[in-house]
Amino acid sequence: MLFNNYFSYMNCIFCQIIEKKAKAEILYENEHVISFLDIRPVNLGHALVIPKNHYTNFLTIPVNELDEIIKVTQKITSAIFSSIKPDGFNIITNNGVAAGQSVFHFHFHIIPRFDEDNFAFRPIFKNYENNSMKDFSDKIRIEIKL
Ligand code: 5GP
Ligand code: ZN
Repeated sequence: MLFNNYFSYMNCIFCQIIEKKAKAEILYENEHVISFLDIRPVNLGHALVIPKNHYTNFLTIPVNELDEIIKVTQKITSAIFSSIKPDGFNIITNNGVAAGQSVFHFHFHIIPRFDEDNFAFRPIFKNYENNSMKDFSDKIRIEIKL
């Protein structure tokens, strides 16, 4: 489901926020990028950073636009860090339904974290059996195109 394009451009809530057709608490915007508070924060101050162009996910956004987003994400994170003073933060991007993506317009989450905030990612770790760690890395390496 990674390339799920369930939301058409017209139905995308983030595109509506960009167009100011839906309200949001905007933190910053420039020609390419906009950042606003998440309406359902994991912790208060949880922000999103998104491209103004609609791309479904991390794999479809052009690298020059990703550069812009990374730069703004660092600036906004720094502002959250100095204003809200969390103990830490997560920068995450969910891609595909299986990964928890619910809005199919690429975005980074900036989540301020506090000691004992009870937000946890608790994976059940898998094991590489026999020689399969090398098999997996071989499979991935052959697909790396730079
Ligand atoms: P995802 O689940 O795709 O990684 O993240 C989408 C995020 O967008 C969610 O955390 C959700 O709370 C947030 N969100 C969804 N609709 C709106 C909205 O209308 N306004 C704002 N500010 N955030 C939204
Ligand atoms: Zn969109």
